[in-house]
Amino acid sequence: MKTLIYSRPYQMAIEERPYPLLGDGCEQVVIRIGAAGICGSDMHAFHGQDPRRQPGLVLGHELAGEIVESQSPRFLPGDRVTANPLITCGKCEYCRQGRDNLCSDRHMVGMDWPGAFAEFMAIPARSVVPLPAGISIQHAALTEPAATVVHAMRLTQRTLTQPLAETRTLVIGGGAIGLLTVLVLRAWGCRHITLAETNALRAEAAERYTGCVSINPMETSISESSHQLVVDAVGAAATRQMAIQAVKPGGVIMHIGLQAWASEIDMRKITLGEITLLGTYTYTMDDFCLTLSMLEEGALGELGWVESRPLSEGEQAFSDLESQQVSAAKILLIP
Ligand SMILES: [Zn+2]
Ligand SMILES: [Zn+2]
Repeated sequence: MKTLIYSRPYQMAIEERPYPLLGDGCEQVVIRIGAAGICGSDMHAFHGQDPRRQPGLVLGHELAGEIVESQSPRFLPGDRVTANPLITCGKCEYCRQGRDNLCSDRHMVGMDWPGAFAEFMAIPARSVVPLPAGISIQHAALTEPAATVVHAMRLTQRTLTQPLAETRTLVIGGGAIGLLTVLVLRAWGCRHITLAETNALRAEAAERYTGCVSINPMETSISESSHQLVVDAVGAAATRQMAIQAVKPGGVIMHIGLQAWASEIDMRKITLGEITLLGTYTYTMDDFCLTLSMLEEGALGELGWVESRPLSEGEQAFSDLESQQVSAAKILLIP
């Protein structure tokens, strides 16, 4: 079968790989991939900056498709599905608490499990979620990135002292996660959202598809202590600094992006301002299923900011994203 592999830093390649074998141990299915999205974390691997993703790996973990083989009575060939790419043990303390995203024995598709930039992929049946009739395969492939945001916003709501809908919010970064954050917040009634984005192409697309106001933080400075919630969907040293600068005392910073792993932060403001700095990682199965139903209901808008390209042109898609020559915040590869 045809796959797109990460061959070395800044290089992707189309390669023939054997059709996946169903493992023994737990019930598995083989999915014929219908669409698979390129994620910021795939770009991180492409840059050679993710020690967990080594050359030779089939990347891709945002997927939807059709069952072709099944060891589970829950699925039949032809069923349309998506899958939670975080494969968890179901037994550890976190899994038992329903916080399966923190599972201590987890695997991730496209990281330590062959990914979805391929014609076919095998996965445990309990990671697979059937698609409602009304959703397209392309839109269903957005479940994973959108679930990351739904999980983050549910964590945020638990910490805020007022409803999300009444919260003045700054979202930093107009990539897919930033855009989805605006869309999820709007779906939940939040109207006071500003997006900070330096790339004019992306800012314009974000305004068009989300109806939010965008500013270029290189040109317009963000007032000190002006927002109750700041979402950092980039996670670079400069954006973390921007987030701390912009958050109001008593407010919340939700840190979703993770470009730079460490940087100096102003602990004085965090301490004296009683600021909550929250991290977030992926989603629980519950978040994943809620997100799929939001997408099915059209709660996240028309999704015109998503572009589809053939898997065979995947190398070009990676280099276009790299050079920031696309306005689309998300590119789906279609095998
Ligand atoms: Zn992703
Ligand atoms: Zn577990």
